[in-house]
Amino acid sequence: MTYQIPFVDLQAQRERLGDGLTASIDRVLEHGQFIMGPEVAELEAALSAFTGVEEVVTCSSGTDALLLPLLASGVGPGDAVIVPTFTFPATPEVVALLGAVPVFADVDAETFNLRPDDLELGLAAARKAGLRPVAAIVVDLFGQPADHADLAAVAEEEGIWILADAAQSLGASYRDVPVANHGRCTAASFFPAKPLGCYGDGGALLTNDPELADRCRSLRVHGQGRDKYDVARVGLNARLDTLQAAVLLEKLRIFEDELERRSQVASRYTAGLDDVVAVPVLSPDRTSAWAQYTIRVERRDGVASALSSAGIPSAIYYPRPLHRSEAYAGAPRAEAGLSVAERLCERVLSLPMHPYLDPTTQDRVIDTLRVSLR
Ligand SMILES: *Cc1c(COP(=O)(O)O)cnc(C)c1O
Repeated sequence: MTYQIPFVDLQAQRERLGDGLTASIDRVLEHGQFIMGPEVAELEAALSAFTGVEEVVTCSSGTDALLLPLLASGVGPGDAVIVPTFTFPATPEVVALLGAVPVFADVDAETFNLRPDDLELGLAAARKAGLRPVAAIVVDLFGQPADHADLAAVAEEEGIWILADAAQSLGASYRDVPVANHGRCTAASFFPAKPLGCYGDGGALLTNDPELADRCRSLRVHGQGRDKYDVARVGLNARLDTLQAAVLLEKLRIFEDELERRSQVASRYTAGLDDVVAVPVLSPDRTSAWAQYTIRVERRDGVASALSSAGIPSAIYYPRPLHRSEAYAGAPRAEAGLSVAERLCERVLSLPMHPYLDPTTQDRVIDTLRVSLR
């Protein structure tokens, strides 16, 4: 029988966390403050210390962490928000939900991230469509920060603001500064398979703008004003559960070590594969949270099925650029086309990646992949 290896090993992490995790869940069951209990504020303070960002507003998902700041900023009909087309569907979705238009831009072939030129082309497309560009959502795909300084320079010149989608990159750094310090606001996700995941849905938005943070705090509880029945604005129910906050506090304790292990796993993959496939390219001025280790390979289907036969899972993030999906068929896009993203969707393949991938198992992945290419 072939031993099936996990793509992400949450059980190994669970064993490591041991009794401390169970005890912290038990504490919540004891005090019974399941909504906005003390662990929520504790987690917000811990994330603030971890990133150096002043304001942390936890919320119910990474998607809501993107939605809240856009809603708080009054983004709506007539507005355009530039988004990369090679990303998870939540990125454009929050824009469209507010009645604004996501304008799709291409990405870099090696880092998978939006480049300053792509942003410029997206802005031109938005204006050509008669829309008012107000913001861009910059995604740090697979854990590697985008070119935040150069993108910020374009944004400033063009009079738009940047919402950073760090759903995959919390824990990484750009020019020695932790992710979440770039752009006006940053969204993080605690979906279980993200580098820092909880046991359900969860997210947080991080910003150094106290006014924006306050509005988002109000919006996450039905637009609450001075008290519960003072409704200051139309909001939603977007709080993080106390239980998830308790879980995240435990996981945050070992997060630095896990990031280091992910980075070692990535290095081992690169050393074992860089002569046969296109391995991820990490820019020298940044670190990655290694949410995914994504190679580019011709004959992808053959490689994936060879891995699968050997009990090795792989995944395609993403099989289709979002401008090609039914939901966004009519959305404006950069005039120069989105060919880099289209081509990436045909070649990318993500390999098992988690902090507990031992060298022997990893060598099995590497060897199987090499054999499949012969
Ligand atoms: C996961 C993810 C999201 C959404 O996060 P959820 O917590 O699942 O809502 C948004 N953007 C990107 C790039 C993601 O990977």
